[in-house]
Amino acid sequence: MTAFDLIVRGGTVATGSDVMNCDVGVKHGRIAALGLDLGSAGTIIDATGRLVLPGGIDSHVHLAQPSGPDVVQSDDFESGTRSAAFGGNTTVIPFCLQERGQSLRQAIQDYHAKSDGQCYTDYGFHLIVSDPTPTVLGQELPAAIGDGYTSFKVFMTYEGLALTDEEILKVMAVARSSGALVMVHAENYDIIRHLTAKLESEGRIAPRFHATSRPIPAEREATHRACTLAEVADVPLVIVHVSNGEAIEEIQRARARGVKVLAETCPQYLMLTAEDLDGLNMEGAKYVCSPPPRDKPSQDACWAGIERGIFDFYSSDHCPFRYNDEKGKLVPKGRTSFRWVPNGIPGIETRLPILFSEGVMKGRIELSHFVRITATNHAKAYGLYPRKGSIAIGADADIAIWDPSITRTIRHADLHDGSDYTPYEGLEVTGWPVTTLVRGHVVVENGVLKARKGTGAFLVRGKSAFVPD
Ligand code: MN
Ligand code: MN
Repeated sequence: MTAFDLIVRGGTVATGSDVMNCDVGVKHGRIAALGLDLGSAGTIIDATGRLVLPGGIDSHVHLAQPSGPDVVQSDDFESGTRSAAFGGNTTVIPFCLQERGQSLRQAIQDYHAKSDGQCYTDYGFHLIVSDPTPTVLGQELPAAIGDGYTSFKVFMTYEGLALTDEEILKVMAVARSSGALVMVHAENYDIIRHLTAKLESEGRIAPRFHATSRPIPAEREATHRACTLAEVADVPLVIVHVSNGEAIEEIQRARARGVKVLAETCPQYLMLTAEDLDGLNMEGAKYVCSPPPRDKPSQDACWAGIERGIFDFYSSDHCPFRYNDEKGKLVPKGRTSFRWVPNGIPGIETRLPILFSEGVMKGRIELSHFVRITATNHAKAYGLYPRKGSIAIGADADIAIWDPSITRTIRHADLHDGSDYTPYEGLEVTGWPVTTLVRGHVVVENGVLKARKGTGAFLVRGKSAFVPD
């Protein structure tokens, strides 16, 4: 009898705090030993010359989410989590959307029906609260938080999703009494509505005017307001998908006042600008997401926010649509304005390679910093730590083995999602995750899918480490 089911041998192991040369012994899906000369095992994976990292946790993902009339997302839970695993992720936290008029309980049932038995990675759900009725606030939301849905998102913009400031305060009060973490999409709805109508009346309807319709001040103001509402409600909050330096300043000002603000940025704000929306005909629609990619100074500010540790999370905000498809980015006939282009871009598989290459390999951040903002901090904030987010004894054996010497040119043809393009086509990166283990199961090995769907399990999450007792 061998001591371990599996040993990852000879690699360089990195956690959010340390880098060490040791072997990893796995038993019953959990990490049982870190050490040298661990002996024999049923399976040995040779990681010589490779990095052994905690599997990525992508805590901002949209899969199979209703996205408006006649529009269909291009990833379900099967294709989305398959693509995630190929990109070195072992856990994803997609959103479970309550549609207006729908009970929260029904929304949760619907998402379980879509995801049960379909996933290659482990997964949980953040709730999206779009209809904070007295029943939702008084019964359904507290019950859901108690059942392990310990974080939820509210929107300050979007038809059918936007809450008033008073509604946000009511929802934050539930977060405070029930111990949940609130995530906020911060953009000023009235500014966007006003500018959209104005641009359309002037005939400025091409995809690039999407960026014009949601300028930096709309995000800056809403970021300030979200922090202020959290300050009044006395709750921590997460500002998701921060795109520019003025929003970062608002976050730092709130932190200086003592507000517990966690901040997230995404690959699109580090790698794209509004100029990408300028493509011929509808090509710019490929880059339409909200907030939109900004200018070069904004990109530099987001990189500085990564380097200086201002951002707690780096997530994909994977929200995929096909490009060459009337149910996707090529909006149905008659709907000619940017207003109808579905908001969101794919990025679940390229998230980690982009930051590894542009951040770690280019010397902007050290390896442990990469691990923190791609895995460890997500686990802590969303109630999965210490089971997830680290390579530690007793943790789930969620491991991504990276070859730091591979140079690849990103091509959509090589990715595993359900879209028909990547915004990063042609980008050359160094380093790629070659093998992904989920609770000790080999899901991807040397670029080949090895597991069946259903290997990924639903996660009942505990309380956020950032929510006080
Ligand atoms: Mn959002
Ligand atoms: Mn999103």
